[in-house]
Amino acid sequence: MIRSTFGPPMPAAASIYISTRGQSPAVDFAEALLRGVAPDGGLYVPSRWPALAPEAMTAHSAREVAHAVLRPFVGDALPDEALTRATWRLTEGFLEPEVTPLVQIGPNLHMLELFHGPTAAFKDYAMQMAAVLAEAALKQSGQRLLLITATSGDTGAAAARAFAGIEGIELVILHPLDRVSAIQRLQMTTTGADNVRNLAVRGDFDDCQRLVKALLADEGLRDGRRLSSVNSINWARLAGQIPYYVTAARALGDAAARATYVVPTGNFGDTFAGWGAQRMGVPMDGLVAATNRNDALVRALGTGVYERTTATPTASVSMDVQAPSNFERLVFEASGRDADLTRGLFEDFARHGRVRLPDDLLGALRREVSAVAVTEAETAEEISRTHRETGRVICPHTAVALTVARRLNRRDGPVVALATAHPAKFPEAVRAAIGIEPERPQQLQGLEGRAERFETVNADLASVRAAIT
Ligand SMILES: *Cc1c(COP(=O)(O)O)cnc(C)c1O
Repeated sequence: MIRSTFGPPMPAAASIYISTRGQSPAVDFAEALLRGVAPDGGLYVPSRWPALAPEAMTAHSAREVAHAVLRPFVGDALPDEALTRATWRLTEGFLEPEVTPLVQIGPNLHMLELFHGPTAAFKDYAMQMAAVLAEAALKQSGQRLLLITATSGDTGAAAARAFAGIEGIELVILHPLDRVSAIQRLQMTTTGADNVRNLAVRGDFDDCQRLVKALLADEGLRDGRRLSSVNSINWARLAGQIPYYVTAARALGDAAARATYVVPTGNFGDTFAGWGAQRMGVPMDGLVAATNRNDALVRALGTGVYERTTATPTASVSMDVQAPSNFERLVFEASGRDADLTRGLFEDFARHGRVRLPDDLLGALRREVSAVAVTEAETAEEISRTHRETGRVICPHTAVALTVARRLNRRDGPVVALATAHPAKFPEAVRAAIGIEPERPQQLQGLEGRAERFETVNADLASVRAAIT
């Protein structure tokens, strides 16, 4: 039962969401999706984890797998027809019939390729589904939604593509001027959709994030609309990443239960989706979060001190995160769902940028995941080594994961590195490592010919607000 001061006790269910900080009313899937963050500042988690539906392991297509995985999380918050449409959209624009193929590149060494979607990064997968579900949730309640999001490149591109032309939703994307790759910028600015607006901020990614936070707190912006964001703290995005762990396990067959997944990690969303998959019963042995030099997670699990430092730019830009937001969900789960403890820690962290994890919690966290940091030199060497040994070109994010994957003991079971972006999105980093630029896949061709639409603004609230209203 969920007992709170906000209403009568109700039975816990996978489709009812509670906050990791314990001070917000429980909500259904549609509300968790439209809110993003809970009113108490916590993140939504299902009040009870569902068991993996047996159909998920036998279904014939990626769409059917996704439907079986997501069904219990949606519950009766949205009509089944909306979920079916969302799972159709989930794989739309994927140029690979297997959607998320598992590719073996060495003895017990695999890559799970998640970059065959329309913007060539793994974020397409969950974002496309979330857009359809958000549209359905709004239609049902007769509301309109203003989405504001900060991006270092991939989130903005995936969101622009997924939400272009979606009814009832306006999307505003803030990216740091001249600090995203040319391809990433073009992906965001050439959709031609009237409901997508791009702001290039004269500042860095942290400025964008700070501005988004301030905008989300600005009641005056709402104008009768709901206001939310689409980064990976949104439960719908996270849930949408669970299905590919299922398809990976199926591809591994009997070896699945001995498999370790190495996830290139920024905000810890993809890794937490893997944790959720395991919690639901998807066979696997363990999860390793691989970070670049921005290693707050590695330090937290190593020393017990979770501390924010300024983000250092790296070749794996989408992982240049100071403090991985979804870590809060893991803390909640590893503490035995202790909302008071979670709230105390993360409120302290917000205030001081540093918090010490209690010993028993640290022990519990270490049993759930491990984390390893990789240097820029190692990342470049991995791009080069993989190219030399297999002829394959990989992106810097994938290289971070593969560096860690190679170090793991692979005698006892397969190791799977998640390949999160197509290398052609990061031509400079690839050229620096192997002297050639990757070939562009079909979905990244022809971008230069299209008309771009964006406004350049100063990194202050007044300028950004003036550009939006
Ligand atoms: C966003 C992103 C990541 C990090 O994923 P998180 O869920 O934030 O940990 C890794 N690689 C690529 C290419 C990305 O775009």
